[in-house]
Amino acid sequence: MNSFNPLENVQKILKKSCEILNLDESVYDLLKEPERTIEINIPVKMDNGKFRIFKGFRSQHCDVMGPYKGGIRFHPTVNGDEVKALSAWMSLKCSATHLPFGGGKGGIIVDVNELSDNELERLSRGYVKELYKYIGDRYDIPAPDVNTNEKIMAWMLDEYIKLTGNNTLATFTGKALGFGGSYGRKEATGVGVAVITRESLKKLGINIRESKIAIQGFGNVGSNTAKHLERMGGNIVSISEYDKEKGVYTIYNEDGFDIADLIEHFEKNNTLFDYKDVKHISIDQFYSLDVDVIIPCALENSIGEEEANKIRAKLIVEGANGPVNYYADSILKDRNIIVIPDILANSGGVIASYFEWVQNISAIDMTEDDVLNKVEYKMLFAYNEILKIQQEYDVTMRLASYIYSVLRLYKILKLRSRI
Ligand code: NAD
Repeated sequence: MNSFNPLENVQKILKKSCEILNLDESVYDLLKEPERTIEINIPVKMDNGKFRIFKGFRSQHCDVMGPYKGGIRFHPTVNGDEVKALSAWMSLKCSATHLPFGGGKGGIIVDVNELSDNELERLSRGYVKELYKYIGDRYDIPAPDVNTNEKIMAWMLDEYIKLTGNNTLATFTGKALGFGGSYGRKEATGVGVAVITRESLKKLGINIRESKIAIQGFGNVGSNTAKHLERMGGNIVSISEYDKEKGVYTIYNEDGFDIADLIEHFEKNNTLFDYKDVKHISIDQFYSLDVDVIIPCALENSIGEEEANKIRAKLIVEGANGPVNYYADSILKDRNIIVIPDILANSGGVIASYFEWVQNISAIDMTEDDVLNKVEYKMLFAYNEILKIQQEYDVTMRLASYIYSVLRLYKILKLRSRI
């Protein structure tokens, strides 16, 4: 992945949107950094009896619209600026999709592959032990992100309830069904990315049934995006993935993959490297594929200037957070390649999380169709509103999304005399 500070990335675009909106400098000064970032050291007793100390973070960006909301990432490259940037994106995302939440994000610097299940549980519980005073169903609501899942949410919520005595399920989202989880949550981000891809292709005059699609990352977001794009008639011809032993690898099949079979293979083997009847291509070839759309669904900073110059697709839809950096963005703009930004494209996850929270606090049940239809409705609403801004200001979809979100945040900040 390229090295580009994601916080600098979000700040540059925030600044530009505040300038376009002619807002007082204090608005940018307030939004460029989180309200608070908490850094913690988590002692974990390892299976060999020795203690290891893991560094963790929780960043709370802006709560003007409601409780902070955002995932917890377990990854060796987690760092303070990344968590801050991710929390800012969450504020913007919640604002763009009209959710009553602010932005939060957390993380631990750890390679989960090095931990046993018991060590992972102790680490997850340790994170909550250090942070339980700063989270809560009306204050800050965490969720899964890269390398965290419903099992980790169950340990975390259980620890939270033990420590606080507050027996609410609404403090974490992305939980398992039966333990406060919601139907549709797992697929929601992918459904949203697929819906926005379909609409954007339509706007470019491309019929999804004739489209060729390349996806980077086949985890939660990538695999569900592939599944729903296939359902809509799209043809997924290439997938780039990462394997601890093989590193980054890319598979290609010009006739398109059978996504259900691919998902089954990935779930069983944890890799697609040995998947049948595929051609292996280099990552450079992946970026220069003759496809209609590339959907990065791995980590931030995957598309820098070098990659931006290679891309031949007409559309990039950001399934991941921050995959296209600031400089790449301007190259893509000059090359007339449309980028649908993360704060719009991957907001299906937090929208479904919102409905999970609604079900938890109000003790009502929603079906999968209820949740996914609401996700689609809210995303299409935001997409159409942002398109209007894009036309009004004659800017990229990224700037339009930021302008739309910042304007909504600004109005509430003003109303509450916070600025
Ligand atoms: P995940 O851990 O389930 O999947 C990530 C996948 O990317 C993994 O399969 C991993 O092997 C692969 N990968 C890692 N490095 C790679 C590389 N260099 N090239 C190709 N593949 C690589 O994570 P996820 O939940 O799917 O999240 C992916 C991205 O989407 C993150 O940026 C996350 O913040 C963002 N996101 C996730 C959600 C959600 O609901 N899960 C919602 C919004 C945004």
